[in-house]
Amino acid sequence: MRLNYFSVIDSAAIAEAAVCYGTPIYLYDENHISKRCKDCLAMPNAFGMTVRYAMKANSGRALLRIISNAGLHIDASSLNEVIRAHLADIPYENIMLTTQEIYQGDRLQKLQELMRLGLKYNVCSLRQLHIMADFAAENNIELGLRVHPGIGTGESATRNTGDDYSCFGIHLSDVTEANKYAADRGLKFRHIHEHIGSGGDSEMWRRNIDLELSIIEEHFPDALSVSFGGGLKEARMPDEMPSDLELLGSYAKWRIEEFYHRTGRKLRMEIEPGTFIVANSGYALTRIVDKKATQRSNFIILDGGMEINSRPLLYGSRHPMYVVSADGKQVKSTEFDADEDGYRAVVAGKCCESGDCQTLNMEGATVPRAMAQPEIGDFLVIGGAGAYCSSMTPINYNSHTQAAEVLLRPNGELTLIRKKQTLEQMLVNEE
Ligand SMILES: *Cc1c(COP(=O)(O)O)cnc(C)c1O
Repeated sequence: MRLNYFSVIDSAAIAEAAVCYGTPIYLYDENHISKRCKDCLAMPNAFGMTVRYAMKANSGRALLRIISNAGLHIDASSLNEVIRAHLADIPYENIMLTTQEIYQGDRLQKLQELMRLGLKYNVCSLRQLHIMADFAAENNIELGLRVHPGIGTGESATRNTGDDYSCFGIHLSDVTEANKYAADRGLKFRHIHEHIGSGGDSEMWRRNIDLELSIIEEHFPDALSVSFGGGLKEARMPDEMPSDLELLGSYAKWRIEEFYHRTGRKLRMEIEPGTFIVANSGYALTRIVDKKATQRSNFIILDGGMEINSRPLLYGSRHPMYVVSADGKQVKSTEFDADEDGYRAVVAGKCCESGDCQTLNMEGATVPRAMAQPEIGDFLVIGGAGAYCSSMTPINYNSHTQAAEVLLRPNGELTLIRKKQTLEQMLVNEE
């Protein structure tokens, strides 16, 4: 029995992965990753498009290879991510670094060495510009610039990166100064970048297209390409709507063509999806190890929680969940297969933290979820766990070791792509 309609992962694969590799583990569906890459590459555009995978969503080497083989480039958010992407055989010229980091000494030298090899760099603050401008001018390297537009959107305030409560990019009010500083050194900004937030609404994404094009028209006469950033919405839960790429692409195409008719300039478009590529391609596979109840709620306890998926705790994010019987024969989804007697349970992890729950609301309160009553020993599979789970959780809290990662290949084979961390590895740097 398949977990859901969009993945080939079925209950037998869940049981097999758990038997071979233990729980908790992450399980990724290669078919679905490839499909999402294709969906993005098929987005309508006017004068060409580059799709960059925002690798902070999930930075494992196997996934990077699948995604770059599908034709995507990379959006990196740190120098270490650049190095990891290159270790996955991705050429530097296919990587763009957009970061809050400030490099000095050895790290600055490393960055400049990689930029000479083709790495693209967006300046995101005046200080970054001051550090990089002379080097870029001397080496004829073109810089991009990330604008802070003053509008943003996100599923929660913590994921809104564009409004005045966040600090990403060079604020519109500093753009003139940045331009002057660059012009004094003979530098031109060829690429203009924005990323207004994650998981926000598509209407805002469209409004940002207009805003960004108007900013380019007013301030950046030399720009050749424009990035609208990431933030394409994926629907993790059945009541959510994913971004419609056909509609968004058509809108961007129309506005970029209009820009051309007005200015004679043909802008290449870039997008930087992270969530959209991997969120629904990944599952956190856990086993139910205990059940408890208080006066208020039933609880089921998993052998993996906030240390494999902290999104509920960080953002109040909701994830679909599937209970798979221990023999791998049956799947019941918590969304569609609730018990008629109204059984509900809070899904908790094993960390000493009352927030170690997979069913929390935005205020951090536990919200029991309707489901078919599971048995101890059944598997609980957390869906929508491909993005910002493995790459973002507090892995060694309570001294739990980092979970292994397994890939379901298109031929049905399960492949270990990252081993489970050992206790020795956790302690290796302690003196
Ligand atoms: C995080 C990030 C993205 C990806 O955001 P998603 O919401 O995961 O698509 C894209 N670009 C930049 C600069 C980012 O920081």
